[in-house]
Amino acid sequence: MNIVLLGIQGSGKGTVKENISNKLNFEYISTGLLLREEIASNSKLGLQVKDIINRGELVDTRIIMELIFKRIRNNQKPNVVFDGFPRNLAQAKELEKLCELDLIIFLNLKKEDAINRILNRLNCPKCGLTTSVETAKNYICPACGAKLVKRSDDTVEAINKRFEQYFSETYPLIDYYKKQNLLVEVDASLPPNEVAEQVMRAINEHNN
Ligand code: ADP
Repeated sequence: MNIVLLGIQGSGKGTVKENISNKLNFEYISTGLLLREEIASNSKLGLQVKDIINRGELVDTRIIMELIFKRIRNNQKPNVVFDGFPRNLAQAKELEKLCELDLIIFLNLKKEDAINRILNRLNCPKCGLTTSVETAKNYICPACGAKLVKRSDDTVEAINKRFEQYFSETYPLIDYYKKQNLLVEVDASLPPNEVAEQVMRAINEHNN
């Protein structure tokens, strides 16, 4: 079963993954996370994309496809949850060539709530966990104990750029997937456990 988590920056896609991973056996592919891993390891690709990401611009789709391909190439029958991909129609078409999609879960959150969440969010440079200042007041990662930091692309300028892109390029995908009867909407303003419950319900209903 292949699922896409779709939603504005800060809508809690990574948090959903954290809260459903003990209930569902899947490969989680977050393109943002994969890119941050490349940057952290100082790879050639990491150096190539670092400034683009910090400016809040999109990375070239060819690079994104290479990263995804590397992850699912050996997996003939993938069971994947995609996060942060596809981000536009061109990427959606690429994904269709790669695998069949079963469910698109749209985490619906107002832009104002999303801004507040992003300004409060903290990221673990070691294991990639995203959490918030409220949850981890001591700035220590609850998963691996490393020191949490703010993401270098969570600046007001880069956030505004990503929001612009979200509304012009990603938001149209909602209609695209609605027309294919693949979309289920979840209220992402609810507490994390309730969002995860709704996501699990959507997955279970699809499977029944
Ligand atoms: P956010 O959802 O807050 O933007 P992500 O971790 O999904 O965070 O992405 C961080 C950055 O990585 C994006 O701003 C973009 O530069 C790059 N990126 C992630 N996914 C993609 C993608 N599918 N296509 C192009 N660039 C991407």
